[in-house]
Order: sequence, then structure tokens, then C-alpha cells
Amino acid sequence: MTMATAATTDFMLPQPYLVQQVVKETADTFTLTLEPSDGTGRNRFQPGQFSMLWVFGVGELPISISGNPADRAQLVYTVRSVGKATHALVSREVGETVGVRGPFGTGWPVEKAEGRDVLVIAGGIGLAPLRPVIYEVLHNREKYGRLVILYGARSPRDLLYRKELTAWARQPETQVLVTVDYGGLSWRGHVGVVTTLFKNARLQPARTLAFACGPEIMMRFVARDLENQGFAPENIYLSMERNMKCAVGFCGHCQYGPHFICKDGPIFPYDRMRPLLEKYEL
Ligand SMILES: Cc1cc2nc3c(=O)[nH]c(=O)nc-3n(C[C@H](O)[C@H](O)[C@H](O)COP(=O)(O)OP(=O)(O)OC[C@H]3O[C@@H](n4cnc5c(N)ncnc54)[C@H](O)[C@@H]3O)c2cc1C
Repeated sequence: MTMATAATTDFMLPQPYLVQQVVKETADTFTLTLEPSDGTGRNRFQPGQFSMLWVFGVGELPISISGNPADRAQLVYTVRSVGKATHALVSREVGETVGVRGPFGTGWPVEKAEGRDVLVIAGGIGLAPLRPVIYEVLHNREKYGRLVILYGARSPRDLLYRKELTAWARQPETQVLVTVDYGGLSWRGHVGVVTTLFKNARLQPARTLAFACGPEIMMRFVARDLENQGFAPENIYLSMERNMKCAVGFCGHCQYGPHFICKDGPIFPYDRMRPLLEKYEL
């Protein structure tokens, strides 16, 4: 076996992890905490990276790491059950095994954000890959300026991490604004798409890095509105999603224009994504 083959086999081989905890976030979304089955705390990831999670006998799928990058003992994932593999994943019980490959992909450029304000814009499950950025900023408060979190969900019942949203809003130099598409009778908060929060956000575009993740249509409007407010395209970062299989740029499943989302992304600066986002259905 050549060295190249040995290395290839390594990152294609799922490592066994045990489910430590499953927390129900909403009716269809669960947060799973996994630990290596051999007990070694060897996890290291950049905020925004993803793993390939293997449910034996069902399939393998990309899921962003949603936990704290400072916690090396565990890997945390927030999964919305939309089909066969995600349903099998959220149905795992404590003590059961899940295969993990990775972490893969590019992270949010948190080093570039040092000394600047950080704007996090999330739609629905898109808050999951952004939560590690929020942990990073709040745990290293002196390195960053203001933190502004704008979060939109379909309805109050679909809001993720409710207790944390409240706790984050109480942190110094932090603004958290939440909106829903449909509020219902008991909702006293904001109603409207996430871009309607911009008018209440205290932003200084020239000294801010913006990180956005959500449905592609949301990111198109978010990026356009940020540019109109004076954000330079290279200071806006988007997390892109495509179906993927190998996660290392071999299979081509996740090709998006000239890019492979798995290895060139999933996080891209808007100036590289704009020509592609302007072509619908690509
Ligand atoms: C880099 C990356 C990070 C991701 N992070 C998360 C995460 O943190 N949490 C989470 O819940 N999901 C995440 N996803 C999406 C997740 O991988 C898909 O929902 C999953 O693969 C669907 O598999 P399934 O067998 O359950 O559903 P399927 O039966 O395959 O599909 C069910 C529905 O979901 C759609 N779908 C399938 N795969 C994808 C995909 N990759 N992207 C968008 N739509 C898809 C299908 O078109 C169909 O409408 C991520 C995807 C990528 C590429």
C-alpha cells in the first residue's frame, strides 16, 4: 500500500463515537453529544467545520459541528430530521454508536474578525454552524468588538437554543434580535424575515465581519442588504450547502460552479459566491 492510499483510507474511515446525550430542541430538531468510544478527548475543529456522520446500516451525511470549540472531549451536532438518515441519527439512544469522519471544510474566519465587531445572521437550522462562533467570541471577549446576533425561524416553536439566546442577550457588548415568519397569538416578539431586523441592529459596517447561514434565498437577500448598508463583499461570509458523499473533493457530488463545497467551503466570502448566487437553480 502506498502512503497516499494509507492517508486516503484514514480520512474515509469513520471512527466510532458513543452518544452521550440527546436533547430535543424543537419538534423535529435534536442536539446530540458524542464522545470517542475509546475515551480519548482528541477533537479539534474550527467553528463552521462539519463532520460526516455515519448511521450504520442507513447512511452517511454531512452535519455541522454546533458545540464549543474549546471543549475537546465532545463533539456536538444539531440535526433537523428531514429524511431517512437524519431521522435515524436523531433516533439514536444514549450509548449507541455513530461513525464520525472529519472535521472537514473551511471554518468561519474568526482570526480575521479579531479586533472587529462580529455580526451573526442565521435562519432556522443555520444557527447550528454559527453557534461555535458565538461561543468563541463570548469566551474570548477581549479579542472582539460588539457581537450582534440576528436570528429568524419559521415560528416561535422552531427557535433553537432558546435559553442560550436569552443568556447571550445579557452578555456585555452583545445584541440579540429574534424574528419569526408567523408569530401566533402568544408571540410578542418581532414578525418578519430576518432582514427586517437590520433596522434595529446597531451596526458599523466598516469595522464588522458578517457571518450568515440559512436557506440560500435568505443568504441572497442578506448579502445584498449588507452590501447596500456598506459592507464590503469580502467581509461577508456565507455557509453553502450541497448534497455530498466523500467530503474530501473526490466524488464531485457537491460541485458548485468551479468549487467543491466540501473542501473549498462550506464557508466562502461573498465576493466569490456572488456570480454563482445570481444564477438561480445552480
Ligand atoms: C456542509 C453541510 C452541513 C450541514 N449541516 C447540517 C446541520 O448542522 N444540521 C442539519 O440538520 N443538517 C445539516 N446539513 C444537511 C443534512 O446533511 C441533510 O439534511 C441530510 O443529508 C439529509 O439526509 P436525509 O437522508 O435525512 O434526507 P434525504 O431523504 O436525503 O432528503 C430529505 C430532504 O432533504 C433534502 N436534502 C438532502 N440532503 C441535503 C443537503 N445536504 N442539503 C440540503 N438539503 C438536503 C432533500 O432534497 C430532501 O428534500 C448539512 C449539509 C451540508 C452540506
